[in-house]
Amino acid sequence: MKLDTLILSWALLCLLWGCDQQDSLARIEARGELVVVSRNSPTTYYVDKDGPTGFEYALTELLAEEMGVELKLETVFTLPDIFEQLQRVDADIAAAGLTLTEQRAAIYPHTAPYYKLTPQVVYVAGQFRPRTIADLVAMKIVVLKGSSHAERLRDLKNSDAPDLTWEEIDEADTLQLLELIKEGQAQLAIIDSNEFAVQQSLYPRQKVAFDLGSEQDMVWYLSPGINNARLRVLINDFLRRQQKNGTLARLREQYF
Ligand code: GLU
Repeated sequence: MKLDTLILSWALLCLLWGCDQQDSLARIEARGELVVVSRNSPTTYYVDKDGPTGFEYALTELLAEEMGVELKLETVFTLPDIFEQLQRVDADIAAAGLTLTEQRAAIYPHTAPYYKLTPQVVYVAGQFRPRTIADLVAMKIVVLKGSSHAERLRDLKNSDAPDLTWEEIDEADTLQLLELIKEGQAQLAIIDSNEFAVQQSLYPRQKVAFDLGSEQDMVWYLSPGINNARLRVLINDFLRRQQKNGTLARLREQYF
């Protein structure tokens, strides 16, 4: 093969495989630390009297243990902050009860799904209960800023319900949304089924009006600025085993 053909094929292969990018797994091993970005909420990560805990904390700690590295879990204040951390390659994994969406998947690599959740419309019993998407028009709806639910509402506005309006709240915990409907500052909140199940005891008058679509996959997202091929294989294998040996079911039972 002539030298220029060789260089061209090498460049092409690099374009396909990302030879110029650093390997995330090698980076984690070199620093001896798995850096996870999450958000503070009862379904993801929180600190109780015994120290740090939560579904994402427990699962990522198991992963770090298996990899033989320390877990460093960092929290941020909003969902967009999580994705900014990934953009800056400041975290290896985002584990924060994140839904797999088309728009996110177009930018961020992700793992295999590790559980499924249904988005739910929550209202206050005794007040008007919407039952369809058409009923949502003209109601005061709140969602987390940058959430999968905001993405879904945008899609609905561009298709079936052009008059739909909503407010995106700059928080990381859906508790804030339930608080807003409790105070009468909004009529409806859209949140994931596990978030509502965990928080409902605090808001006994709040109920599910209807499910906004079918079950959705929850995934961990990875940084787009680094080569994640090996890390992704490792994580997907880890998740498959936790599914098979019942660990995922046990953690879901324990935390949700
Ligand atoms: N799963 C949601 C998301 O990925 C966050 C939690 C919620 O808003 O209920 O944006």
